[in-house]
Amino acid sequence: MFENLSERLGGVFDRLTKAGALSEDDVKTALREVRTALLEADVSLPVARDFIKAVQKKATGASVTKSVTPGQQVVKIVHDELVAFLAGEGEPGKLKVDNPPAPILMVGLQGSGKTTTTAKLAKRLKEREGKRVLMASLDVNRPAAMEQLAILGQQIGVDTLPIVKGEDPVTIAKRAKTQAGLGGYDVYLLDTAGRLHIDQELIAQAAAVRDVANPRETLLVVDGLTGQDAVNVATEFDDKIGVTGVVLTRMDGDGRGGAALSMRAVTGKPIKFVGLGEKTDALEEFHPERVAGRILG
Ligand code: GDP
Repeated sequence: MFENLSERLGGVFDRLTKAGALSEDDVKTALREVRTALLEADVSLPVARDFIKAVQKKATGASVTKSVTPGQQVVKIVHDELVAFLAGEGEPGKLKVDNPPAPILMVGLQGSGKTTTTAKLAKRLKEREGKRVLMASLDVNRPAAMEQLAILGQQIGVDTLPIVKGEDPVTIAKRAKTQAGLGGYDVYLLDTAGRLHIDQELIAQAAAVRDVANPRETLLVVDGLTGQDAVNVATEFDDKIGVTGVVLTRMDGDGRGGAALSMRAVTGKPIKFVGLGEKTDALEEFHPERVAGRILG
């Protein structure tokens, strides 16, 4: 997912590490190239600027230019700064699912991959953490979406809340809570309705569900291919509903990775998982260390 950026930075760093002695100007030039590479990867300008500023602060001064391997020093500073930029609190991929039954609210725009991600997470919680999981679709506007979740549940061997026609999302959320308690489930996932755009009704509905469910996690699912738009959507959802983490989908596509790099810096929210395909096991934890390693080679 970061091939182009990785290639570009590889070139810059190759020159830097081969150069031997470095002047402050050499470092400045290299960092300017890093900034351009970030912008080409669709990282937003303020984020790229802040990032370079932070690196520059650490890279200027005697320690780098006078060290025996100045180029490698710069690369290490970029690496460490990248990890700090991407990292959130807590362990990557860990969700707060203690105190059963723990509600997890899934929010996002229509088509972002929310229902698929709900099933992917359920499968993961069941298989990796041995949790008893219940899924419920709250998408009363789209019966097909409710059916889709039920089918996915059958595929992965996870229970779904029986569909009752005519119920509103808040009633379904309450029923899910009761069922999760009575049925001895550890976790229940609430797949809310999405829309093509963030509008009042979407927000009001998600907020009403949030208020009755009192979720331990509110995960926003966003399409990673949409670049800066993904970051804007996340900012808006967080302002209006409050999210605890982000899942970036379609990272198996040819996106440039900018959304992944800007998300934490712009929204303050960590990316918890990335979606890497349509199958129910195509979900990966987002590890800042590993991602930085992948980008810097
Ligand atoms: P929702 O409207 O947000 O619930 O979106 P869906 O879960 O129905 O997903 C919309 C489409 O995106 C489906 O065809 C999914 O198979 C596909 N999709 C979801 N996540 C990913 C992903 O990580 N990678 C790819 N390539 N496709 C995905």
